[in-house]
Amino acid sequence: MRNRSVPRVATLLLSVAVTVASVACAERFEEPKADLILRNARVYTLAWDDPATDGTPADNAPYDESGWHPDASAVAVRGQTVLFVGDDEASEAYRDDHTRVVDLEGATLLPGLVDAHTHIINLGTVLEQVDMVDVQTEEAAVELVAQRAQDVPEGDWIVGYGWDDGAWADDYPDMRLLTERVPNHPVLMRGLHGFAVWGNRLALEEAGITAATEAPSGGRILKDETGNPTGLLLDRATSLLTGALPPPSVSQLESRILAAMQVMAEDGYTTVHEAGVGSAAMQAFENLAAEGRMPLRVYVMISARDNDLARQWLEWGPDTDGNDKLITRAVKAYYDAALGSRGARLLEDYSDMPGHRGVSGEEYGFNEELVSEMMAAGFQVGVHAIGDAGNRETLDFIERVYSVHPEAKDYRHRVEHAQVVHPDDFRRFSDYDLIASVQPPHAMEDKAWALQRLGPERVLGAYAWRTFRKTGAPLAFSSDLPGSDHDIFYGLVAAMARQDKLGEPEGGWYPNERMTPEEAVRGYTSWAAYSAFLEDTVGTIAPGMWADLTVMDVDPLSLGSSEPLRLLDGRILMTIVAGEIIYERN
Ligand SMILES: [Zn+2]
Repeated sequence: MRNRSVPRVATLLLSVAVTVASVACAERFEEPKADLILRNARVYTLAWDDPATDGTPADNAPYDESGWHPDASAVAVRGQTVLFVGDDEASEAYRDDHTRVVDLEGATLLPGLVDAHTHIINLGTVLEQVDMVDVQTEEAAVELVAQRAQDVPEGDWIVGYGWDDGAWADDYPDMRLLTERVPNHPVLMRGLHGFAVWGNRLALEEAGITAATEAPSGGRILKDETGNPTGLLLDRATSLLTGALPPPSVSQLESRILAAMQVMAEDGYTTVHEAGVGSAAMQAFENLAAEGRMPLRVYVMISARDNDLARQWLEWGPDTDGNDKLITRAVKAYYDAALGSRGARLLEDYSDMPGHRGVSGEEYGFNEELVSEMMAAGFQVGVHAIGDAGNRETLDFIERVYSVHPEAKDYRHRVEHAQVVHPDDFRRFSDYDLIASVQPPHAMEDKAWALQRLGPERVLGAYAWRTFRKTGAPLAFSSDLPGSDHDIFYGLVAAMARQDKLGEPEGGWYPNERMTPEEAVRGYTSWAAYSAFLEDTVGTIAPGMWADLTVMDVDPLSLGSSEPLRLLDGRILMTIVAGEIIYERN
C-alpha cells in the first residue's frame, strides 16, 4: 500500500529487544517465546553466499563431496517473523505452554516460494468457469451449469469451458435444453479448442444476436430452418458472443483473486509477482489488502497499457517500504508478442516463415514516453520481450533512458521472458543491471517448435539461463500462469534438468543451459526476492526476516542432484506467510 511509515519488521525487532531488556533484570535470562516451532526438518536457509556463475556452490554453502546437507533442523516463529533458526535442541529454549510445535518428520523446509511472473487474476477466471473438460454429453454439460446457477445471482453471466467442440462437431448442441434448464442467467460455454461457443437464449439476447445478424467473414452463426440462431457460433463469429460478456466487477475480481491465492497457497507459494495489473484489478487488490484478506504477498506490476492508472501512480510515486503484503513499485510494459504465434520480433526472418519477423515497439503498443517517465520516477519496469530483436530494441530503449536519467539504473529493471537473445546482447543485461525474468516451464512447452521457428543457430540463444548467469545477469524464475503449469516441482525439474513432465528429452533439452539444483531453488526464492527488492525480508531464512516458509516432502537440493525427475512426485505439506499457516496438508 502507499505511504506506510514505520517498517513492521523494525517495529517487531524493537519489541523483541524491549522484551529481552525487561527480562534481563530478572534472575534468569529468558528467551522470548515462539508461537510456532517447526522441528525435525531438513532446513535450507539459503542464507549462505550465491553460487559462482557456473553453479559451483559458495565456500560457506552446506555442500561437500557427499552433496547437500541441510544447514538447520528447526525454525521458531514469533508473530510475523523468524525468531530462531538452528537445531531441535536449541529450539527448546523458545518454547512455552503456548507454543505450537510441529514435528515435520524429516520434510524439507525452504524459504517461501515466489512465482515471479503470474496472472493470478486469469487463474481465478479459469477457476470460476464451469469445468466441462471430459464431459461426454450435452445433458451432462447443461446439468453442471444448472447446478452452478443455483449459486449465482439471477442475471449474472455463467461461463463454462471445455466441452469438446472437436468431438461434438457432427452434432453440435443448441440453446433449447440450456435455455430450458437455465432460463434466468446468460450462459456462455467455450469449447475446448476455442473455435466454438455455445450460448442460451438470454446470452444471445444480451449479445443482440438475432436472425438478422450476419456472421463476420471467417465465422458462422448456426441457424435453424426458420432462420433463427441455434445458440452455436463458430470461429470468428464466436466474438459476437464473447464480446458481450461484461467486464468483471471489482467484487468479482476479489473473489477470483482469493480463489487463485488459495490454489497458490496449497501449491506452496508465499509471494506472486502479478505481471500487468489494470485499474479494476488494482482496486480489488487494494481492497483485499486493506481488509487483511490477502493470504499471500503480491508484488504488483502496473500495466503500462492502463495509461490512467500508470499516470496516477506516477503522481504518487513508487511504494518502496516493502512492508505490506501488497507492494506497488513496478510497471509492466509490452515490447513484442509470443514466439509460438510468431509475434515475437526477430532480427532475421522466422526459419519457418520466410519474410516474417514479428511485431514490436509502437506497433505493439509500447509507450516509450510513459515507460521512461516511470523509470525516471523510481519505478522498476518489467518489459515483456521475447524475440532477439524484441530484446535488442528493449536494451536499446533502456540504454537511451539511462543516458538521460542515469539514476534509473538503480531500480533493477527486468526483462520479462528474455526468451531469445542474440549472442552480442547477453552481456548488456549485466552491463545495464537488468534482471532476466524467465520461465523454465516455457522452455519445456516451447521445445516442440522452437527449433523450427528459430533454426539451429538462434535456438542456442533461447531460454539460455546458464549464458545469462555466466555473463553476470541475475535471474528470477516463474511460471507465467495460467498459461503454464505453476507446479513448483515441474518448474524445478524444468530449470535443473530441462526435461518435461514425461522426462523428455533424455539428458535435457540443450543441457548446457541447465541450472544446478541450488540455482533452481534460488530462482524461486532468494533471486526472485531480489527481483522485487525484498531480499532483506524474504527469500532466505534468518532471525528477523518475515516468516514466509514452504515445507515439502522432497529435498530439491539432494534429490535434484541425483534423480531430479523424482521431484515431480513431490508434494507441498505446509505454506506459511508472515507467521500464519495458510495451508497445511492433512
Ligand atoms: Zn505473462
